[in-house]
Amino acid sequence: MTSLDDLPIRDDLRGLHPYGAPQAQVPIQLNVNENTHPIPEGVATDIVRALAQAVLGVNRYPDREFTELRESLAGYLGHGLTRDNIWAANGSNEVLQQTLQAFGGPGRSVLGFPPTYSMHSIIASGTGTRWLAGLRDAGYELSPETVVAAIEHDRPDIVFLCSPNNPTGTRLGLETIAAAYDAHPGILLVDEAYAEFAAGDTALTMLEGRPRLLVSRTMSKAFAFAGARVGYLAADPAVTDALRLVRLPYHLSSFTQVAAVAALAHAPEMLAMVQDIKGQRDRMIAVLPELGFSPLPSEANFVLFGGVDDPRATFEALFEQGILIRDVGIPNHLRVTAGSEAETTAFLDALGWLSSVGRAG
Ligand SMILES: *Cc1c(COP(=O)(O)O)cnc(C)c1O
Repeated sequence: MTSLDDLPIRDDLRGLHPYGAPQAQVPIQLNVNENTHPIPEGVATDIVRALAQAVLGVNRYPDREFTELRESLAGYLGHGLTRDNIWAANGSNEVLQQTLQAFGGPGRSVLGFPPTYSMHSIIASGTGTRWLAGLRDAGYELSPETVVAAIEHDRPDIVFLCSPNNPTGTRLGLETIAAAYDAHPGILLVDEAYAEFAAGDTALTMLEGRPRLLVSRTMSKAFAFAGARVGYLAADPAVTDALRLVRLPYHLSSFTQVAAVAALAHAPEMLAMVQDIKGQRDRMIAVLPELGFSPLPSEANFVLFGGVDDPRATFEALFEQGILIRDVGIPNHLRVTAGSEAETTAFLDALGWLSSVGRAG
């Protein structure tokens, strides 16, 4: 059998590893920050009705400009945005990929601040964009001074910021984003995949007068729509024209478009569980110290916690109990998604038990 190494693959891809969050059918899946609550049945019925209508026209290509979807997303975001400000793709991962295809690529670089979303550097390699890793302040914070110093040192073509940041849960102050924008003439993308869970202001409020600022969002997390693959960004209309140069024609299927429009028409119902999820997140942050762990503050739907002696072993012991969480490779830390009340209880009980028998923390 041929191995990958035998193939004439691009030199810059040799030895790299693909994105690999384990996918396992266990009862309690708290590893990829999905909304663990199923969508309301009434909304599901509406989506199915829209899909049934769309299937009758599936002999034709979909609307290449996904006009209705952009309209719906602009309405959902508010902040005076119109459909001309909106771009969408199959998950915000694809939005980020198209951004690097248009503004990055061979000979160009993107600066990020690990620990951060692992796909940022993977999408950089896929597009041949050089990945530069900046350092964070204590507690994974990122001050304006730290970001500006990294930008002045690295002179990147693109800067990726993530707020709230995955996997730490840290939200950035808008002053850090403003400073990053002003510190270079390149593109600044703020990944706001978890914005609906955060307390503070969104970078959407900063778009006016900043044509090089891109704010990406997703329907995969708060919106309980991960399986449908819909991500989007808001930016100056000129940015969407740049993305049109690299997207594949008809990249959003008719089914994706109508399903997302139908779901967005029910935004309040789709987001109904967000308060509950934030409650479970805050409950974990309150209870984990009682079990001997040190959770970081989080404005997302997950918690990164320290004090784990052997993350791999604790991950596996939980997995044996049917609970999947995430080892993100930070020494002595694990990350867990806030699920339903029952899932959160099961996780905390299992971790507490492991800790009491000396198998964690
Ligand atoms: C989950 C996540 C995404 C979302 O990816 P999709 O492709 O939209 O499912 C984007 N950014 C961050 C930081 C994430 O954690």
